[in-house]
Amino acid sequence: MAKATTDRAALKKAASKIIKKRADELIEFAQDIGRNPEVGFQEFRTSRKLAEAVEKAGLTVERGLAITGFKARHEFSGDGPTVAVIAELDSLRVPGHELADPETGAAHACGHHTQSGQILGVIAALTDPAIASSLSGAVAFIAAPAEEFIDVSARLEAHNAGEIGFMSGKQEMIRLGVFDDVDMAMMVHTSSESDAGNFSVGGSSNAHVVQHVRFIGKAAHAGGAPWDGINALQAANVALVAVNAQRETFQNADTVRVHGIITDGGISVNSVPGQVIYEGRVRGRDSEVVDAIAEKIERSFKAGALAVGGEVEITSIPGYMALTNDPLMSDIFAANAEGISGKENVIRRGPDANRGGSTDMGDLSQIMPVIHAYVSGAIGTAHGIDYVISDYKNAVVNAAIAMAHTVIDLLIDSAAAGGEVLANSTPPRTKKQYVESQESRMRIIRYKGE
Ligand SMILES: [Zn+2]
Ligand SMILES: [Zn+2]
Repeated sequence: MAKATTDRAALKKAASKIIKKRADELIEFAQDIGRNPEVGFQEFRTSRKLAEAVEKAGLTVERGLAITGFKARHEFSGDGPTVAVIAELDSLRVPGHELADPETGAAHACGHHTQSGQILGVIAALTDPAIASSLSGAVAFIAAPAEEFIDVSARLEAHNAGEIGFMSGKQEMIRLGVFDDVDMAMMVHTSSESDAGNFSVGGSSNAHVVQHVRFIGKAAHAGGAPWDGINALQAANVALVAVNAQRETFQNADTVRVHGIITDGGISVNSVPGQVIYEGRVRGRDSEVVDAIAEKIERSFKAGALAVGGEVEITSIPGYMALTNDPLMSDIFAANAEGISGKENVIRRGPDANRGGSTDMGDLSQIMPVIHAYVSGAIGTAHGIDYVISDYKNAVVNAAIAMAHTVIDLLIDSAAAGGEVLANSTPPRTKKQYVESQESRMRIIRYKGE
């Protein structure tokens, strides 16, 4: 058995060496996932390939968690907390992206494929006996599906069929108890922003609610007798004008975003549309802001139904909660990132620096200390057709080194720093409170305009 050491610099050096030695393999792995994008809860190939690689590294994989997710624990010898290292599996749908799947439009326009290479690098370092023997506690490697909250109609169907309880990967994994044996968690996401340094850590994200809206009218011959119909598309039209009328009431500090798509705008042009489906999102700096704005938006949907004398069915789906990065974990990660990239290339953001987007790491941050850091190496517009990874060495290899070093700092020396993180962290909710709160936010409103 390898001899334990408290020389953290030596351990970090060893970890870097192991990860760098595998750089080509890790990058090729991530690139392969990038060329074979799969959307949330359908990442079957991605998950299988990654799970096989994790098993090849000697770990036991618990598969089929939240459909396509998995977990592999690695226990160290001494007592201590369990640190989760997370890799997100899913892509978006962005037709026109150079790596888009021609049939599904799936494309890794958010860079999640780099995380598969990262996690394999972290596993290689932390399971090495020379490193593992000096650490206490455990590390849980978690592959999380469906971070992008898309395909809402399909997920709602899966929810109603009992296949999923919550409609994003980490939300569902929390509900299922996947994080019950985890004390803190981290992940590194790619960034193409020019002001994000080589690494950035801190900041927050928006909370959100998902609205699945069905405008219900009455089909009729669009030429022969349109007066016999009730036009659901006109209802949606009026509703969206009313939604836009709310915007002047949004406060800057609340970082409100209201946006949506029509996924079913009618089925045949010769018929007055009897049904229109709108899939939307209300975001804001916290769940209270979101709930207040969502009420105005619901009123707007009702206005559409009222105008044409139709009906509207609004399903409110619990979206994400705002992200809180743990300050102490952020400090540790930032110091390691500085060790890799230099102090001037690591950006620290204050807790109120809200990026406007949303992540289900926010949900996890409600129940345990987490960090959701960023690494550069991407170019183009996030979620756009031109978002690609230009520097895999940075996005995969350096990110893996930063995470491995952070876990070493947390779990070396009888996990002293890990213990300190837990002692200083006061997550706002227990897991049970989180699940109950989210379940209470799921509701259906039906309104008849007459
Ligand atoms: Zn994204
Ligand atoms: Zn993302």
